[in-house]
Amino acid sequence: PTIGVVRETNDGERRVAIVPKTIPSLIAKGVDIIVEADAGSGALIPDELFVDAGATIGDPWSADVVVKVAPPNESEVAKLSKGQTLIGFLAPRNADNKIDALRDAGVQAFAVEAIPRISRAQVMDALSSQANVAGYKAVLLAASESTRFFPMLTTAAGTVKPATVLILGVGVAGLQALATAKRLGGRPTGYDVRPEVADQVRSVGAQWLDLGIDAAGEGGYARELTDDERAKQQQALENAIKGFDVVITTALVPGRPAPRLVTAAAVEGMKPGSVVVDLAGETGGNCELTEPGKTVVKHGVTIASPLNLPATMPEHASELYSKNVSALLELMLVDGKLAPDFEDQVLADSCVTREVS
Ligand code: NAD
Repeated sequence: PTIGVVRETNDGERRVAIVPKTIPSLIAKGVDIIVEADAGSGALIPDELFVDAGATIGDPWSADVVVKVAPPNESEVAKLSKGQTLIGFLAPRNADNKIDALRDAGVQAFAVEAIPRISRAQVMDALSSQANVAGYKAVLLAASESTRFFPMLTTAAGTVKPATVLILGVGVAGLQALATAKRLGGRPTGYDVRPEVADQVRSVGAQWLDLGIDAAGEGGYARELTDDERAKQQQALENAIKGFDVVITTALVPGRPAPRLVTAAAVEGMKPGSVVVDLAGETGGNCELTEPGKTVVKHGVTIASPLNLPATMPEHASELYSKNVSALLELMLVDGKLAPDFEDQVLADSCVTREVS
């Protein structure tokens, strides 16, 4: 089969679905790889490097399998036809996803978001690989917006106390944010509604904030809080947040609007010059004053809600994603043929539309 690697067209999207490094092992499995001209330019990978790795430059949209990063837009869906397979982030839980259109076009589509969080599928877990990038970059952004140092400094000109950093939501992004804040010399604290996370927080040298709410849901994700729990949580966080220089929020509940963790009053309670970085902007934000995609100053506090942080580190984000996608592809290849086994939980769960005869 042929695998087509497309050039991403979304604003600011600099990632590419397959990087040259993963091409030889795919070719060894019996596929041909066709890369759209300039597909890697955002990630600083020239066409020559794809060719050196064994790919050809050409039209990826006619390949048997088209691999992408961002969900396809209407004109991209129109380039696909019956019998083709698409792999990428397909935003299956977003209201404006294109899955019905893909189904109508007879395209077999796999959404990487729907790959189950089981050990065997970790190598394919694109949500995790990209959340790692986002968690890291969120801390750098906070540090650069902050009017204060992260590390403790003892200098002839005086002593600076380390920044206190609160991470709300300790999934993959939050854990990386805690570790990154620690490496920068800050004093990180983590909070989540899944109590099992406490040990992971401590393992990266951070403190655990316990508010006595347990909202562990299914599949390792959180459930939505009840109204009572939410009110209790917001009040407790309002008290806690006052003491922090930096708050980074990453809390998500699958398929639901982002939980509101940081109220306007909590922001008002923070010292001027403090920073909130809200990674949940795409689903409405964890902070009441967040303006998704923007950086605003309210009550003297800078509130940044960057969208698609992984695209701002296209080199490593693409490299990790490419490994995820090629592992998923390899699972579908049997003796050099594309033959996804839908008895396999990974393929059954991630497939969002297919022809059933
Ligand atoms: P996510 O992006 O869905 O959510 C981020 C975090 O926000 C979660 O930790 C969640 O508990 C937290 N959260 C939700 N509502 C909250 C609230 N009201 N207050 C505070 N925190 C709230 O999570 P994720 O990064 O995708 O990780 C989800 C789980 O999957 C984690 O347990 C992670 O360790 C697990 N995981 C397992 C594997 C694997 O075994 N293969 C791979 C990756 C992740």
